[in-house]
Amino acid sequence: MCDCLVCSRIEQIRRGENPYFVEELSTGYVVLGDYQRFPGYTLFLCKEHASELHHLDREFRNRFLDEMSLTAEAVYRAFQPEKLNYELLGKGNAVHMHWHLFPRKTGDVPGGGPVWRLPSEEMYDEKYRLTTEELENRKRKLRTELHRLMREAGILNAR
Ligand SMILES: [Zn+2]
Repeated sequence: MCDCLVCSRIEQIRRGENPYFVEELSTGYVVLGDYQRFPGYTLFLCKEHASELHHLDREFRNRFLDEMSLTAEAVYRAFQPEKLNYELLGKGNAVHMHWHLFPRKTGDVPGGGPVWRLPSEEMYDEKYRLTTEELENRKRKLRTELHRLMREAGILNAR
């Protein structure tokens, strides 16, 4: 059994048990971050358990990057940040590619810099977990923008 956190989140989605799940694209899954210290923080989880972009088949990789950008645009439209931050991180056991898409605005991190400057007690403070209603609203907002873009790109099938 795989002990990868991203694989286990994907398994949850497939069982219909992941409350953060927003949408499935051909190369990955869109989910909201568990903690919303940055309102609209979204992740795009790769369907392949792969650690590097160059490990992906070229055609899949191009589609994966394209769908990540589409997801990012939907986040931008839904949550209207000053700027998006895109991050593909990982080491140790956390190597399964997952994009972090952070909506940013001036002053959201004291002293500036990447979101990870914040201490983890702040990033993962329980007050940044959404209520069921807030979570549903935020997911609906993102899904609406995503579907609009997917329709424009001709990749929203028979809905
Ligand atoms: Zn994995």
